[in-house]
Amino acid sequence: MLMTVVTFIVWRSKSRIFVDILCMEQHNPKLKAGTSHLTHRYGTSEGELFKEDPAEGLLNIGGILKHSESLHVFWDHTWISRLWCVFELAAFLKCQEGKEGNAMPIFIRPVTLGPCSMMIFFACFFTSIGNLNTPFLDSAPLLGMVVLTVSGMACWIAAIRFLRAHWASLESTLDQLSSFKLEKTSCFCCTKGHQQDNGAMMVCDRQVIMHCITHWFDSIEAFEETVKTEISKAMRQQLGHAFTSYSWLVLVGLPFHWMNMDQIATRLRCGNVSGAAVVGVINLTWCLFSVPWILRTTVMATYLCRRRRSNWISEQLVNLGLYLLITFFAAFILALQLLATEFPDLVQGSVFFVAVNLLIFSLATCRCQDWARDAG
Ligand SMILES: [Zn+2]
Repeated sequence: MLMTVVTFIVWRSKSRIFVDILCMEQHNPKLKAGTSHLTHRYGTSEGELFKEDPAEGLLNIGGILKHSESLHVFWDHTWISRLWCVFELAAFLKCQEGKEGNAMPIFIRPVTLGPCSMMIFFACFFTSIGNLNTPFLDSAPLLGMVVLTVSGMACWIAAIRFLRAHWASLESTLDQLSSFKLEKTSCFCCTKGHQQDNGAMMVCDRQVIMHCITHWFDSIEAFEETVKTEISKAMRQQLGHAFTSYSWLVLVGLPFHWMNMDQIATRLRCGNVSGAAVVGVINLTWCLFSVPWILRTTVMATYLCRRRRSNWISEQLVNLGLYLLITFFAAFILALQLLATEFPDLVQGSVFFVAVNLLIFSLATCRCQDWARDAG
């Protein structure tokens, strides 16, 4: 647990990244607009629009994007309605024209993936410790069980809420995309009436951006069509699968692995090597098959229950019902595990446990692929 947190904070990726909100000037309008680059690049003479602001700045983003290998979008439901986000997308699409390969290097990840991963991770952690009950074993086992169960339940319900909100937002965004219009996007300068706090006039980003997009795509309509088709397709594929990728499902369920590692160590200390081997097989089955299929099925269930209920009580009942579904699945696997340990031959018991889980995992995976196609 400690190493996971330390790695998360201290580890530095070797990839070089450009984060727009951090790397672009946000307060100085001249530095932000960067219209001299636009004028220079296109030799535009309709520069009434640009004359007044000969600064370096934001429009140089075209150069950055041209030399970028991929565009990573951290998506929430407001993304497609923000003009600058749409502009960056347009610039990147333009830069990709003529490059080899068919796959568009745009990676769209929902911002809810972060908190949702943390909640499931901690939910697995509390549930695992709750099963062991180790921290409270000598002092107050009942209190320990209650504290850990309630903590685990709170994390599961938080994760369920994130997942349901994600599906509802995705559905709403796909609706918006089907009738996407650039003029409907919002822009900070327009919402401020092009006046700064000190009363000075503000350059309108929208005019600059519309001009760029017209240059790049020949017409605004052509760009809107690209958004409706290519971006809509990328969103369906990537946001539909964000919470069902196998590697993600294995990683967020890792605390179950720690719980079983403790049991393996206990058996090895007592010299029970065959017992440790059996727990080792059961451990791998939990991590590679059981937890992924339980989480995948839960994610599918949150999609089916994505609609927000009108009153608070109904909303909580839906969340509780989904939590009970996870509990039921986990109890089913635990019952299978107990049944496997009752086999006269432990090897046969382990094979039985692995085989049943592998079968359910395969069924859940096939069903999930069909479902993700429909959901997207
Ligand atoms: Zn404006």
